[in-house]
Amino acid sequence: MKNNKILFDNHMHSHFSCDSEEDVEKYIKLAMERGYKEITITDHNELFIEPGGEEEKIGIYYPVKYETQMNEIRVLNKKYEGITIRHGMELGLNVNRQDYFEILDKMDNLDFIIGSIHNPWEIPFAKLHEELTPLEFQEKYYTIMLQAIKELTSAFDVIGHIDFPIRYGPDEFRHLHFPQLKDTIAEIFTFLIENNKGIEINRALLDMGLDYPHPIPDVFKLYKDLGGEIITYGSDSHSIKEFSLDFHKQVQDYAIANGFKTICTFAKRKPIFHNIA
Ligand SMILES: [Zn+2]
Ligand SMILES: [Zn+2]
Repeated sequence: MKNNKILFDNHMHSHFSCDSEEDVEKYIKLAMERGYKEITITDHNELFIEPGGEEEKIGIYYPVKYETQMNEIRVLNKKYEGITIRHGMELGLNVNRQDYFEILDKMDNLDFIIGSIHNPWEIPFAKLHEELTPLEFQEKYYTIMLQAIKELTSAFDVIGHIDFPIRYGPDEFRHLHFPQLKDTIAEIFTFLIENNKGIEINRALLDMGLDYPHPIPDVFKLYKDLGGEIITYGSDSHSIKEFSLDFHKQVQDYAIANGFKTICTFAKRKPIFHNIA
């Protein structure tokens, strides 16, 4: 086996996420069969939600149980040799919430944080799709992202699924209005690059039958052209079934075709660069 193959996955959900019931051990066994060297469990933490609050109705996720999960990961690392299980988190970025850093200070053992903008409006996407045009919706999304990365810079390492708005909604919402959004996305990338933050390649669009993952080609190329170097790879699996779909080869080819020679994993929130080309 060549050492430059991607042998890791940095975005995986387990039973600690409200939208997954998966057992981490099942992921480990399959990862080891494939020869992976490390996986990072990144359960959801949408900090602006109070358990049992109104928001439950729109399907947002409760905070992860940090200590319990840390212990589980520690035990599994001892049990399985030859693979490293890292403790990460997918943090929902929300500029309306002021207590991020207080909470994150208590979670000082994390290896990796994906900052994702899922739904910072606390309004269901379906309603926004009715009220806004696709361009208005996407402009709103990236304006919020720009504000979030500036205000919450130390709260994340990479931005998750950067072209998330095209994942949902009627057909007309499934296409990114890149020319109109290019300046804002470039401003986001410039800020990320200057602050040593990255973006992830996320498998989800491949699942939807597209020929590429997140980020879409125009967006990925822009990141590279602006000098972006930190990229991670995540399957965003919520089940062993999703994890069993192996897109590593396509992802690797996609990164190489866009000029990347390395992909990162993170330990204690510092990037480790792995050669892929
Ligand atoms: Zn996400
Ligand atoms: Zn995710």
